[in-house]
Order: sequence, then C-alpha cells, then structure tokens
Amino acid sequence: MKGLVKRYARRGLWLEDVAKPEFGINDVLIRVIRTGVCGTDLHIYVWDEWAQQTIPVPMVVGHEFVGEVVEVGGNVLDFKKGDLVSGEGHVVCGLCRNCMAGRRHLCAHVKGIGVNRPGAFAEYIVLPMSNVWLHHEGVDLDIASIFDPFGNAVHTALSFPLLGEDVLITGAGPIGIMATAVARHAGARYIVVSDLNEYRLELARKMGATLAINVKERDVASTQEELGMHEGFDVGLEMSGNPKAFQDMINNMCHGGKVAMLGIPSGAMGIDWNHVVFNMLTIKGIYGREIFETWYKMSVMLQSGLDLKPVITHRFHYTEFEQAFAAMESGQSGKVILDWE
Ligand code: NAD
Ligand code: ZN
Repeated sequence: MKGLVKRYARRGLWLEDVAKPEFGINDVLIRVIRTGVCGTDLHIYVWDEWAQQTIPVPMVVGHEFVGEVVEVGGNVLDFKKGDLVSGEGHVVCGLCRNCMAGRRHLCAHVKGIGVNRPGAFAEYIVLPMSNVWLHHEGVDLDIASIFDPFGNAVHTALSFPLLGEDVLITGAGPIGIMATAVARHAGARYIVVSDLNEYRLELARKMGATLAINVKERDVASTQEELGMHEGFDVGLEMSGNPKAFQDMINNMCHGGKVAMLGIPSGAMGIDWNHVVFNMLTIKGIYGREIFETWYKMSVMLQSGLDLKPVITHRFHYTEFEQAFAAMESGQSGKVILDWE
C-alpha cells in the first residue's frame, strides 16, 4: 500500500510502498478515505526539535482520518465491513489507575498513532477496536476526517459551562476557530477571538466570533470596553501556545474565571500569578479528547446543526502532499484535507 513515511531524519516526507499493517484478534483494519493535516504533522515534516526527540524513523505518520472498515479480528463484534469510522488516536494502556476507572483520556501510558506507532497517512490503518468510533449516518466526509482536532476543540470548549457566558479564545488556528463555533452552538453570549493572522481572524468571524481582533492592532481589554463588559471574561480557551496570549487571557478574566488550556507552549512559561491568586482563577490543562464522551458530543452537535464547513480551506490528493504541507506552512489556511481515494 501507499503511505507517507518519515523515512529520513530531516525535513520532508516520502511517499512509499509500505507493507499493509497486520492485525490481531482485537483489531480493526480500516481503509483510509480522507485525512486531515495537523500542526503536529507539520512539526514532523519540518523536523523540529520536538519531532527529532519524539518520532521513530522510519514510520508512517498522520492521525486525523475517516475510513471504512474492511476486516475485523475474531473478537470484534461491534464493527463490520463497510462501517464508516474514525479513530481515537490515543491508544491507552488499559491497566493504569485512570484506565481501570474508565477515565481513559487520563491514561499514564498513552501512545499516539502517527507519533509513537504507525499512523493514518496510508491506504490502510489498524486500530484496537476500543479506539474505533462509528460515525452517524450522513456525516460529511471532510468533517469526519477531522474528528481528532474537532475533539480537541470540543473537549476544551465544553470544559466549563458556556450558556450565557462571555468567552475569550486566544489563537484562531483550526482548533481555535472550531472552538468558536462550538462555543456559539453551546450558547455563549460574547465570543472574542485573538490572533495575529488576518486570514484566520476572518475564518473566526465566519465561525461565529462576536469580535475577532488582531493583537498587533488592539488589545483584548479594548474588546471588553467595546462590548460593555465590566468584569472580564467568564471562560478562557487558550489555543495558541503563545506566552503573550496566555498573559492577555489571565489579565482579562473575571474574578472566579475559568481557563481551559489546550495550546502547547514551546517551553516553560511565566505569568503574573497575582492575577490567578487574587482573582481566584481556575486553570485546567487539556490533552486529547475524553474517550468517548467528547466523540459523542461532536456527533450530536453536528446532528443538531453545528456547522464547521468554513474551517476546511484546502483539499489535495495524497500524491500532492507537498502542496498540502506548503499550505499549512503558509499560515494562510484553516484545515487542509488529503484525499486517499
Ligand atoms: P495553530 O498553530 O494552527 O494555531 C495557533 C494560532 O495562534 C496561530 O494562528 C497563531 O497565529 C496564533 N497566535 C500566535 N501568537 C498569538 C498571540 N500572541 N495571540 C493570539 N494568537 C496568537 O494550532 P492549532 O492546530 O489550531 O492548535 C492550537 C494549539 O493547541 C497549538 O498550540 C497546538 O500545539 C495545541 N494542541 C494541543 C493539543 C492537546 O491535546 N493539548 C492537541 C492539538 C493541538
Ligand atoms: Zn492507562
């Protein structure tokens, strides 16, 4: 089968013929239909320090996908040939305290597809049956292919109640703008989104932001004034990983405000802890998706009218992967999709 392989420990990916993955009695063999390109894949493509320390070479990369079940192991009763599925890319140990208690997203020994084990940028992928999500009838294939980052957005956005609340989202990358649409769908009042990238701020407006501001031109505090808010944002969703953005957020939260932090800073990051202490803020770290509560929420929000379409800005055939990575690297993109058919 064809696969996009991190063949050499340097910039690039290589389209190669690789062995179709073998599967065991508890596994599902899936024919990949479409994949999403993630910021993580770009890190692996450019081969930055994180990738050098994390990614085994050679390996098939990629983790956002939708596909069709082609074969199942002997123990698998809940999936059958032809089912339209995506995969939870975090393969958990099943044995640690959190796994045993059913809190699988908190597993202490998680392995990621396309990061620690073979990934989805290939014609076929194998996953344990406990990582397979069956899509609802009528789901859009592009949207189904990005359930992984959509799940990051939903996990973060629904960490705290949003109905009637004022929400600040720092970072209008694909996940920030999906979180914008989710917060709108979940009944937030004002949603302010910040970024430095005009292309992405425009997408945030399409996805339901009340105000999408370029922090090169105006500060977050000015939006509170414009909207007539007097006490700060109730909920903050940090989706940039940028220290300046995080500080902006801490400075603009109300007393008792709640911050969910998805963005991954490149190193240690300082903030003024006086704001946290005296304003009694709650800060919650978010990793991955709740398995499978977040997936359930994604599915039912789509069924109840959540529209994510504007997030998808580019589509390429997998043989055009170089163009796809160029679109990602340019920053002039939302979600980039690769077609594997
Ligand atoms: P992305 O890199 O595409 O988007 C980040 C955005 O933040 C960019 O548009 C950038 O211009 C903007 N930004 C930079 N500095 C800013 C500032 N000072 N103020 C406001 N915005 C600023 O990333 P993404 O794919 O949308 O993911 C969002 C974040 O979540 C990234 O940090 C990513 O690494 C992280 N992530 C975390 C998890 C997890 O499980 N915790 C999973 C996926 C992604
Ligand atoms: Zn575990």
